[in-house]
Amino acid sequence: MKLLRRLKDFSFAHGVHPHESKERTHSLPIQRMPFVREYVVPLNQHLGAPARAVVAVGNRVHRGELIAEPGAFISTSLHSPVTGRVKAIDNRRYPGGLFAKSIVIEADPFATQQVPKVPREWRLTPTQFVTEIQHAGIVGMGGAAFPAHAKYSIPEGQQIEHLLVNGAECEPYLTNDHRMMVERPEALLRGIEILLHNLGAKAATIGVETNKPEAIAVLRERIHPDQPIRVAPLRVKYPQGAEKMLIKSIFGKEVPAGGLPRDLGMVVNNVGSVLAIADWFDSGIPLIERVVTVSGDGVEQPANLLVPLGTPLREVLKFCDGLKPGVSQVVMGGPMMGSSVASLDVPVLKGTSGILAFREPQALHTHEYSCIRCGRCLEACPYFLNPSRLARLARSRLYHEMERYSVMDCVECGSCTYSCPSRIPIVQLIRTAKSQLRQSGRGVQ
Ligand code: SF4
Ligand code: SF4
Repeated sequence: MKLLRRLKDFSFAHGVHPHESKERTHSLPIQRMPFVREYVVPLNQHLGAPARAVVAVGNRVHRGELIAEPGAFISTSLHSPVTGRVKAIDNRRYPGGLFAKSIVIEADPFATQQVPKVPREWRLTPTQFVTEIQHAGIVGMGGAAFPAHAKYSIPEGQQIEHLLVNGAECEPYLTNDHRMMVERPEALLRGIEILLHNLGAKAATIGVETNKPEAIAVLRERIHPDQPIRVAPLRVKYPQGAEKMLIKSIFGKEVPAGGLPRDLGMVVNNVGSVLAIADWFDSGIPLIERVVTVSGDGVEQPANLLVPLGTPLREVLKFCDGLKPGVSQVVMGGPMMGSSVASLDVPVLKGTSGILAFREPQALHTHEYSCIRCGRCLEACPYFLNPSRLARLARSRLYHEMERYSVMDCVECGSCTYSCPSRIPIVQLIRTAKSQLRQSGRGVQ
């Protein structure tokens, strides 16, 4: 009981405990996925404005070469994941059943070329650092895909004291952060060093859930006693890895409603983003690939794969020996925050942390019943919102009314949907409402 009390947690009362389901992949080393024939790189694979293509159909491109520049400040560059030829720039399949303008690259047959390793100057002014990170195309790689450089653009008068590295990986099934911490601890510590220097922060904490004892042990072993870095073990609970929950768990502080971690002098970065920063400055490699966990009971050979961005899901699953018979749902991301895909032609994006395939018994879509006002969604919500009321308002399309009930504070963690005995798709309804509010210029966050 004493040990339990010492573990960091955001709340005793709130949050949920979905089955972890990490056992099939947590000890599988990261493998590099071979190149495939064709890559589809959507221009809007991060939050904010889409990138603008700087290549034309027929151009030859090299792996790591710039193919699209930021379309605005909240936007990032895109680089070619492979050496080949631009085959098309047109609308291609995108998650959510949509189509998005994409650069389609046909890989050279037998392409094996890697980016030549050229270290870059890493001790920069604040403005230079922001520009470098935007140029490298680095985003939040836990799933949100928020352009990382925007977090490092600190308004005058604010000072960053602490860097928080998010290694919680609280989503069931996903093990890519875990593997990166175990396999690349030096690179992670190097990324932290670069960030501490350029943000002017004094110290860093890596938050890791206790279901990753190997990662905690490896990191503690590699951290030099002189380094201002510590590892904070976290209670296994969802959504421990949500930015504001992590701050609450580790520091006991609450980010004010509508505020940002930097209001408390903090910047929070996912493990994958910190590693991408180390790769950019130490090797000159922009964000052209990422680690993806492929799992679920519908996958023949689960894996943790290093996948070039733009690889169609179909090819990734083929590399994992394909799907088992009876698969009814393929999810991009984790089962709590991810979304089902309508086609396996959609590509791996910067924010794709997982590809999960489920057969009928585990599929998340089931028949919906009426709300019985049990209050479980209220207990589950880590942000103390009233998900049941928000869902009702969203159903009635009273989106502006939802602002009165702080809908924009919802982080779309899915805890409410998970805990609802009536299987009401609460988070999906809230997501639609937030998107409508953003489109109408309201609730900008
Ligand atoms: S209302 Fe939003 S923040 Fe609250 S549990 Fe549901 S998805 Fe999570
Ligand atoms: S958990 Fe579901 S059934 Fe219970 S109050 Fe919330 S929406 Fe209604």
